Amino acid sequence: MSQVLTISCKLKVSPSQAAKLDATLEAFGQALNWVNQNTPEKVANAVKLQSLCYREIRARFGLSSNLAQQVCRRVAGARKVARQRNRPVKEFKRRFVTYDARIFSFREKDWTVSLTTVEGRERFELAIGNYQRGMLAGSNPKAATLVQRKDGSYYIQICVEKKPPKQQDTDKVIGVDLGRTDIAHTSEGDNWNGQQLNRVRDHYSRLRAVLQRKASKGTRSSRRRCRELLQRLSGKERRFQAWVNHRISKAIVSRAKATNSAIALEDLTGIRERVNQQPRSKTERRRANSWAFYQLRQFLEYKARVAGVSLVLVPPAYTSQTCHKCLHIHPDPAQSYRSGKSFKCGHCGWEGDADLNGANVIALLGAVVNQPRGSGLFCSLVEQNRLRATESPLRTA
Ligand SMILES: [Zn+2]
Repeated sequence: MSQVLTISCKLKVSPSQAAKLDATLEAFGQALNWVNQNTPEKVANAVKLQSLCYREIRARFGLSSNLAQQVCRRVAGARKVARQRNRPVKEFKRRFVTYDARIFSFREKDWTVSLTTVEGRERFELAIGNYQRGMLAGSNPKAATLVQRKDGSYYIQICVEKKPPKQQDTDKVIGVDLGRTDIAHTSEGDNWNGQQLNRVRDHYSRLRAVLQRKASKGTRSSRRRCRELLQRLSGKERRFQAWVNHRISKAIVSRAKATNSAIALEDLTGIRERVNQQPRSKTERRRANSWAFYQLRQFLEYKARVAGVSLVLVPPAYTSQTCHKCLHIHPDPAQSYRSGKSFKCGHCGWEGDADLNGANVIALLGAVVNQPRGSGLFCSLVEQNRLRATESPLRTA
């Protein structure tokens, strides 16, 4: 299985080239919206769209044959996505142009790309660093997207297919517990607590509260300024969160790579539907459902794949109530063995950090899942899970 990565590269653009790119972005954007508004909403097939308005696109917007086809493809694609979400495509706001192999090419010997514009083909030098060079070297990219950023600079996002390195065979597993009291806690004892993140979040939420109050009263211009500031803030908070997630996932994956271990995570697919049957607290459910934790999982998954680290998903039930030393499950919330951040096993007497315990249980389960034939530990847990019994199959006594 190959993996498609998007490499974002800044273009070196002369003023005359900028004018051509601008005209192309403008024409492409107008064509997208024109096609979207002037064809029946139910048509979500690129070939059909093309037969309806290919000529008109070329005549009206001066796009090349291939760019006109790309317009139809994009509208069709957007409509398909919109259909799944059950709402129509309103408008294409972002400025972009999509390219395929016929109208885009990459040349490694001088790190340039050539793009078709409304005024013919142009060659651009890439302003890139070692990371991009490493990713692009030896690749033969077939697709790319031209975008213009807010600051006016132009970027080409090149899709590169990579064969991921062969996943290492190992019986060592690092368990990672995500989003309970800490953002992430590994069975190796590394943890990233949410304190800094929460401080930043609180700061933004206070600021938002003030601005929202101001945005609803005051003069018209001050209301508008507040709304603009709010919008800017939302992006800032999002980027901060992404940066945090990037750092955490990178650290975990490189640790796993260095120690030749697999990574085990809880399998949270369908957690929303299942959640009421699971012994998880309200805060844990909220965190597991938030986009920030979803993003962290995604980062972990793709970075692991790129690094050739295997990733195993384990059933999430009871991971926080099981003692990793003696495998005894403490099912009764009333006599909770977990208070805040600490966990005490009433069976063997192990006492320590609750997240560390959870991560260790995940690692144990991961090691079992990772074995080719599995073992009784995993199977009985799954079986038990199905029966939704409260008694522990892992119990030793
Ligand atoms: Zn115990």
